[in-house]
Amino acid sequence: MRPMFNAPQGSPAEAVAQGVRRMLSTKVERFTESVIREMTRLAMKHDAVNLAQGFPDFPCAPEIKEAARQAIADDDNQYAITWGQKPLRDALVEKFARTQGVTIDPEREITVTCGSTEAMMAVMMAVINPGDEAVIFEPFYENYGPDVILSGAQPRFVSLRPPDWSFDRDELAAAFGPRTKAIIVNTPNNPTGKVFTREELEFIRDLCVRWNAFAITDEIYEHILYDGAEHISMAALDGMRDRAIVVNGMSKTYTVTGWRVGWAIAPPGPTEAIRKVHDFLTVGAAAPLQAAGAVALRLPDSYYAQLADKYRAKRDLMLGILTGAGFNCIKPKGAYYIMTDISRFGAKDDVAFAKYLIEEIGVAVVPGSSFYNDPAGPGSQQVRFAFCKVDETLHAAGERLSRLKPR
Ligand code: GLN
Repeated sequence: MRPMFNAPQGSPAEAVAQGVRRMLSTKVERFTESVIREMTRLAMKHDAVNLAQGFPDFPCAPEIKEAARQAIADDDNQYAITWGQKPLRDALVEKFARTQGVTIDPEREITVTCGSTEAMMAVMMAVINPGDEAVIFEPFYENYGPDVILSGAQPRFVSLRPPDWSFDRDELAAAFGPRTKAIIVNTPNNPTGKVFTREELEFIRDLCVRWNAFAITDEIYEHILYDGAEHISMAALDGMRDRAIVVNGMSKTYTVTGWRVGWAIAPPGPTEAIRKVHDFLTVGAAAPLQAAGAVALRLPDSYYAQLADKYRAKRDLMLGILTGAGFNCIKPKGAYYIMTDISRFGAKDDVAFAKYLIEEIGVAVVPGSSFYNDPAGPGSQQVRFAFCKVDETLHAAGERLSRLKPR
């Protein structure tokens, strides 16, 4: 794997001077294909249990499937309004008011996108100018790397440190400055399972206010919470209404990662810009699936309680399996991943260990370095397990992992 943020060899101007025409984008040369998604392909090739990419192997709720079937049968099959079908935007308004106590305007503050992946990219492209900096907590979900490069932002990394993945307030404050355009916060966090506390979010808020920056928060795991952890949206904090941009989607909450229905909630000014980027990137998300989204977002509170409960049981099962196999685990408070320390296995690094796990043990994971800027950093002795799988899958992985020999 190549480091993501190192400049490629030679500038476009140098290439021209040498008489070499660069046929491909230098921006794109600065990142690799997704390691997470590559691991899924390798898992299939080696018939490994896939605990790499975070998608569930169990079905979504029947009423959500039925709503999609019905929408197709009713011929809801043409383009939706580019920024999202009205019933879905109305359902989003209701749900955000119900869960976060924040009233948003469905006409001026919502953009429905093709998954939260597109939402994040569209947001970045809508607000970043050359020279702007984006503060990113590290380890970070790997997409933010290419998001930053393609939008042209300069990343400023701030460490989340084990065992509780807390950050140093001075380090964070030092990462902000007059060039800071935004901070990206993912809570509940992938890959660490950290859930940012109100105090932490308020500290971040104060820096955003001080430096006139946006907080772009990826809240895709908002309902996957354990041990009484509470999800607080950045948009719900006093003083953040005009600078919080919330990225979210149906994938994780409703077990439909393949539907690609997401959204960005932002103040009217940024929303206008986000909608323009979104329109020319994708025109819109799948119309009948947006219709099903409007049904999903109105599911009762009991749905979300059951979802969290189900994942809590899986987390505990997986923690038992991994600890038994010799991994040092950090217990997640949210999301559905476990970051583990692998130093007891004596592998050269995380990539070598992940390769060994896939090819020899038969379990696919994500190498820790995919979540860090410097592959030689702490990620080189970490791997991430996803536990959003039926218990049989987790047990099958457990059986295979029991062949590992920790020192
Ligand atoms: N967010 C999930 C993960 O981290 C899936 C990413 C993706 O492939 N879109 O594994």
